[in-house]
Amino acid sequence: MAVCEVPEGNEIHRWAERHGAAFAGKVVRVDGPQGRFVDSDVLDGRKLLKVMAVGKHLGYDFGKDRILHVHLGLQGDFKEGSGPLPAVKGALRLRMCNDAAVKRPIVPGESKKHSWYSDDDGTGHIAPAQVVWVELRGPMDCTVYTQAKWDALLERLGPDPLNGDGPERFVEKVRKSKKAIAALLMDQTVAAGVGNIYRAELLFRARLSPFVEGKDVPEAVLKAVWKDAIPLMKAGMVDRRIVTTLPKDRPINPKGKVLKEEAHYVYRRHGQECFVCGTKVMKQEMAARNLYWCPNCQKAKQRL
Ligand SMILES: [Zn+2]
Repeated sequence: MAVCEVPEGNEIHRWAERHGAAFAGKVVRVDGPQGRFVDSDVLDGRKLLKVMAVGKHLGYDFGKDRILHVHLGLQGDFKEGSGPLPAVKGALRLRMCNDAAVKRPIVPGESKKHSWYSDDDGTGHIAPAQVVWVELRGPMDCTVYTQAKWDALLERLGPDPLNGDGPERFVEKVRKSKKAIAALLMDQTVAAGVGNIYRAELLFRARLSPFVEGKDVPEAVLKAVWKDAIPLMKAGMVDRRIVTTLPKDRPINPKGKVLKEEAHYVYRRHGQECFVCGTKVMKQEMAARNLYWCPNCQKAKQRL
């Protein structure tokens, strides 16, 4: 079972890239075969222009005022396949497919499937261009947006490290706030796409205390955090997993495949020894999620 976290920007951007490669520029069939998506007529049979990702939001652009907005939330999950459409089962919200999938007869078990990416070990991988159908289950939101509604969403969201945004707006928003930096990093209006794993790991990599108020974090440190986030999140897209440790900090297996228990410095490592200093990693709730940090490497008064 996947770890219960809202998928972070790396995963959302990866879905956008895959679904764009599979469907953009093509006529797409859209339906909600169990009555869980009633607006399919607005999109069905139209050409998908592009797939957009910003933060944790996906937008499938079917033309003016026909943008399918998807937010996976905690439970949402895509499945993709290269064979014929599988039989409808489970709490299926929506499916998209191209004609190649519709015209082929359904043969149970024949479809190659590709699902929840953090469980995906790379076996059974389907090249994006070969994906002919996508199923969506359990999203927090799956509705058709007008252009104005999509634009309002973009307006609300902070800059996204994976969309080529610079650190300026991030720095400005953080430096105005008395909230703790760890809470600010979870705020999608401050940094879009950063979630619970990246917030913990970015703070550790910067050796920055999660409790420092935004206004007290030096601008240079915030710029460094932003600069660090970009390749880290891009790597998370490509690798289909989040790895934040440097090889030299992995005590068991510094070379070769990154072991699950050595992929992160602090995330879900509470009670275990910090890879860098040996102090026990701590955990407490902040911004409604568990926060993990090393009280020695990330001292409250520390300045870089
Ligand atoms: Zn430490």
